Amino acid sequence: MSKHKTYDVLVVGAGVFGAWTALQLARRGQSVLLIDAYGPGNSRASSGGESRIIRMGYGADELYTRWATRSLVRWKELLAETMGSPVLFYKTGVLWLGSKEYPRLKEMTAVLTRCKVPFESLSSSAIAQRYPQFSSRDLNSGILETESGVLMARRAVWEVAECAVSLGVDYRQAQVTPPFEGQTRGGSIAAISTSGGERISAGQFVFACGAWLGKIFPEILGPRIFPSRQEVFFFGVPPGNNQFSAQALPTWLIQADEVYGMPDLEARGFKIAFDSHGQRVDPDMQTRVVSAESIERVRAYVAKRFPVLANSPIVETRVCQYENTSNGDFLIDRHPQMNNVWFAGGGSGHGFKHGPAFGEYVAQQILDGGPAEPRFALANKAMEQKRAVY
Ligand SMILES: Cc1cc2nc3c(=O)[nH]c(=O)nc-3n(C[C@H](O)[C@H](O)[C@H](O)COP(=O)(O)OP(=O)(O)OC[C@H]3O[C@@H](n4cnc5c(N)ncnc54)[C@H](O)[C@@H]3O)c2cc1C
Repeated sequence: MSKHKTYDVLVVGAGVFGAWTALQLARRGQSVLLIDAYGPGNSRASSGGESRIIRMGYGADELYTRWATRSLVRWKELLAETMGSPVLFYKTGVLWLGSKEYPRLKEMTAVLTRCKVPFESLSSSAIAQRYPQFSSRDLNSGILETESGVLMARRAVWEVAECAVSLGVDYRQAQVTPPFEGQTRGGSIAAISTSGGERISAGQFVFACGAWLGKIFPEILGPRIFPSRQEVFFFGVPPGNNQFSAQALPTWLIQADEVYGMPDLEARGFKIAFDSHGQRVDPDMQTRVVSAESIERVRAYVAKRFPVLANSPIVETRVCQYENTSNGDFLIDRHPQMNNVWFAGGGSGHGFKHGPAFGEYVAQQILDGGPAEPRFALANKAMEQKRAVY
């Protein structure tokens, strides 16, 4: 491919959002270049984790339930196309646990019913009987999404990127550096440069740069994207114990505790993480080694909720970052001064599952225009965090 080709669209960032955007644009006949500084689903990226929960429940928030439902169909279709079957998706079921008084479970029941998402409601005795692994006396209500589960995340991103390349997308490992050529107030840009000194022209530019968005657009997005440090732990299960296998334990979330976890998939161990936001971090430089305080905290939690694992070793850890907007809604909008530059991010700790619908929406906005979802607009991104989407 000539270095001087002008692409229809240049997508910066090959995480789940950029890879799906490139793929959807290619499916619609666009010539696309996908660029990433470190590689698709790399270890610094939010999409670089081993696994991500694919759940449909969002409390009363029907928009994300509908996007998740549509996306799961697309994920399975893509994996079937590229791998012969959706092997990177584990239908573990997703179990929400809470107390009867917790309004979110009630609201979720209504939305899941309306959106025809299969689920079972569980009483406290059913929870105790089916899942003796949990110490669950305070959890007297449950919803089990029976068709939901887990995607093996970084490998799934590779599949999307490879599929995009097979459809003609060019991929390049390079870091895009501001300022942008031809940058004018109220105008458009003609090209971007890379840290290697290359100049690349395109008609439209999509920045799907996750937690890096604030570094690339410091004035506009620096105060509106809040990258938070998130630590993930895998506990080794006792030898010969099947209680934590995917047959015995679904993926689970206890929102009152701000904790979620997964069964022992691919023998990596029982995964557990806190969903509360950690300290603000720089995605290039933050250390990927977990802290002693977090180890202590997670050990105390596991001993309380999963007594069988109280003395189990931590067999793997991961450190990642969420790329939060003020309230957790995505950011998909044009740059206010450069009309062919698009922001595409703000996954806010829940974006992975939505990759297909996200890419479809970005492609539609660029190619067809049409009504934009106000919740994704830059104008609705505040400079103070008040999380509302979980
Ligand atoms: C610990 C953790 C658990 C999570 N759990 C879930 C879950 O269970 N379910 C769920 O749905 N979601 C979950 N999420 C959220 C989800 O993973 C993210 O919302 C999603 O991966 C964001 O993808 P992205 O493409 O926006 O960003 P990223 O994956 O971070 O991709 C951005 C890419 O841009 C590239 N880039 C940045 N700057 C430049 C530049 N200047 N030039 C070139 N390339 C550049 C980076 O290298 C990177 O690859 C979780 C996130 C974390 C961290």
